[in-house]
Amino acid sequence: MRLKTIQNKFHVELDTIYGSEEVDSFFYILIDFYSKISRIELAMNPNLEIQEPNEIFNALDLLKNQKPIQYIIGETEFYGLNFKVNTNTLIPRPETEELVEWILKDQTESKQINILDIGTGSGCIAISLAKNLPNAKVYALDISKEAIKVAKENADLNNVEVVFIESDILTAGYAEFVSISHKFDVIVSNPPYVRALEKDLMKPNVLNNEPHLALFVKDNNPLQFYEAITKFAINNLSDKGVLFFEINEYLGQDMIELLRNNNFKTIELKQDIFKKDRMIKASIN
Ligand code: GLN
Repeated sequence: MRLKTIQNKFHVELDTIYGSEEVDSFFYILIDFYSKISRIELAMNPNLEIQEPNEIFNALDLLKNQKPIQYIIGETEFYGLNFKVNTNTLIPRPETEELVEWILKDQTESKQINILDIGTGSGCIAISLAKNLPNAKVYALDISKEAIKVAKENADLNNVEVVFIESDILTAGYAEFVSISHKFDVIVSNPPYVRALEKDLMKPNVLNNEPHLALFVKDNNPLQFYEAITKFAINNLSDKGVLFFEINEYLGQDMIELLRNNNFKTIELKQDIFKKDRMIKASIN
């Protein structure tokens, strides 16, 4: 079947949902993934045909039902690296790349450092830090066995070593950390932070597909994870250690207050490229 015929069908069926530009981008991702044909190749040979269009039509059906393209092909890109994803992990977001960028810029020392990522999901933060900081020993924790499985695969895929720990930061008696006798120079987390009251603002492709365990917190206790992690950080950061969080864009001031109340002194709130309060950095000394 001619690829151009399939592309037309994509536009007919999906443009009203996603708009034609995004539909083109889905189509090119899919022909590259399933048929190893690039956008440029197709532009130069508009009559290109494929013999087995079934997978691409199957993907079209899933897209019609708002399934994210990353879950359809089971992978995505984050900070220039390839990551496997499935419905047990969030799809890494561009704003989280900005957080990684901030942490990397902040690391100027060449001595060995220890990093802990809490709620690692697909492992995107831990793995991109490990990849870009050869002097770092990286640990990553998640409550979900399934997410840790994906994160381990991603560490292998990207040839980095990360120590994964299956544990719930809310209830951990820290027994998990007994074997880690040292303190951490960086503790980072992108924990669940979306309040139920914000559900109406979310797109159905997120709401109906991504793991609620990784997204939602109770309206009456939205900083639950931040509080637990901040308290953990007080005892487990090294002297000059730094705590980094991705945060809910509406809760920047509450985060500053939480950190201040826990004796963090140097606190910096930072916006993402969309000018939303999205990340925060804090240290005790
Ligand atoms: N930024 C994500 C979203 O808006 C949420 C990530 C999180 O809860 N940690 O879907």
